[in-house]
Amino acid sequence: MPRPLRIALVRINQESNALSPLRTTLADFRTTHFVEGAALLAGVAEGGVEAEGFLKNAELSGFAAAARARGAVELVPLFSAWAVPGGPLTAETHEALKAMLIKGLQEAGALDGVALSLHGAMGVEGVPDPEADYLAAIRGVVGDSLPVAVTYDLHGNLTPAKVTGSPLLFAYRTNPHRDHARIGERAGRVLLDTIDGEVHPVAAWRSLPMVLGGGTTVDFLPTMRPLFRHMKKLERDPRVLGCSLFMCHIWNDHPHLGWAVHVLTDGDGPLAERLADELAERAWAVRTVEPPRFPTVEEAIGRARKARLRRRLGAVCMSDVSDVVAAGAPGENHRILEALRTHGQGLLAYVPFRDAAAVATLWDVEVGQPVRFSLGGRLHPEQNQALPVEGTLRFKRESLALGRQVVVESGDVRLVITEGPPIAMKPEFYLEVGLNPAKADIVVVKSFFPWLIYFARYSRMNLWVQTEGITDLDAVRRISFADPVFPIDDVDDWRAIDRQRRGA
Ligand SMILES: [Zn+2]
Repeated sequence: MPRPLRIALVRINQESNALSPLRTTLADFRTTHFVEGAALLAGVAEGGVEAEGFLKNAELSGFAAAARARGAVELVPLFSAWAVPGGPLTAETHEALKAMLIKGLQEAGALDGVALSLHGAMGVEGVPDPEADYLAAIRGVVGDSLPVAVTYDLHGNLTPAKVTGSPLLFAYRTNPHRDHARIGERAGRVLLDTIDGEVHPVAAWRSLPMVLGGGTTVDFLPTMRPLFRHMKKLERDPRVLGCSLFMCHIWNDHPHLGWAVHVLTDGDGPLAERLADELAERAWAVRTVEPPRFPTVEEAIGRARKARLRRRLGAVCMSDVSDVVAAGAPGENHRILEALRTHGQGLLAYVPFRDAAAVATLWDVEVGQPVRFSLGGRLHPEQNQALPVEGTLRFKRESLALGRQVVVESGDVRLVITEGPPIAMKPEFYLEVGLNPAKADIVVVKSFFPWLIYFARYSRMNLWVQTEGITDLDAVRRISFADPVFPIDDVDDWRAIDRQRRGA
């Protein structure tokens, strides 16, 4: 009987916001998600939980499912490190992760392949393309010919170094992302078929000088739906092993940031080139579909106030688009809170806020006691001011990802103050501190779109509010790029820049 195929499993995943004043360290990975060895294997096994409190099944579970379906595969678990979006990693965090990766591969013994989950928009101080650096490190241990299947977030930035590192790559196809495991499984299948010699992947890709477009970029809404459907249709052709569309993370400061497309075929180079080219044309065509215009917070509060019936049936959810923690913002924007205090009388509002120092001050206070303290203005003082707060302490709790949390009742506002990033994307953020979103008039979320799915039961009106912060869409203008990119510059033709970027 032939020996089983040995596939190493590993993840290094974080989405970085280059404009954040904060830095991401190993401690941030450890508080969000860091598992290795047997625990990783148990997490990706059938019925296991891959990322506790976050996702039951993600990419590595998908890889594992593909391995189970094939049979005779031994998974070699290295580690899985996933941090909440935030500032770029410190150089030493990057070096530490890379050292773990190299050591894990060196100790893994003979391998037939590597299954790797990356983000694609990770930033590291002083390292322009850190994920390509991980791929180079892998190649340094396993050599150039070993198949390495890589999954990316569709907000990743595809670069020549990443494609050279491994062209066997697959990006999510949903936004908000719901297909982590599905993409992992597809990548796993193609990886195993490649090792078995059943397929011979050939890749083609294009890099587009555009950083915005596609409207909301939600996969099931009108602008992007035809593109994702087209890709699905392409994959019905057995010669097509996969296609990816990258829409980039606009606060990534890679000098060649932009959308990209990538197509993998089974041994058919000209077909891959033709399909990648056509897909690039389709993506380029939606560049002029602008993102939705967002109301000011005062307008939004006015709309919420008028929506009496909807408030009675549920809540008005407001996404703070200027301070999206799920896109790497610090979570200490005070503007919605300030506006609620001035314009929101009589509206019960839940507001998340990150301030470790305030939590430390309030932690020893007994629940039910009055409190008076200064909130915020610490993480990004150039942008966010401190606010005086008076109220009553209503709740205290400690969790792994958010650290210590306290709830302060201040007028009609219920402030949920967290030590860690207040990633208010799911109702659990409030439910776990005793606040039922169904009872609120206004619920503030710190996510662009995924919250739409999670809050569907509670939200009767969805609003996106622009104040001022590092996840504003126009904040992208503060980043300098090496090439002209749309819509910051007038770009008529993508082809010359694409060829230059790819070195074609
Ligand atoms: Zn993403």
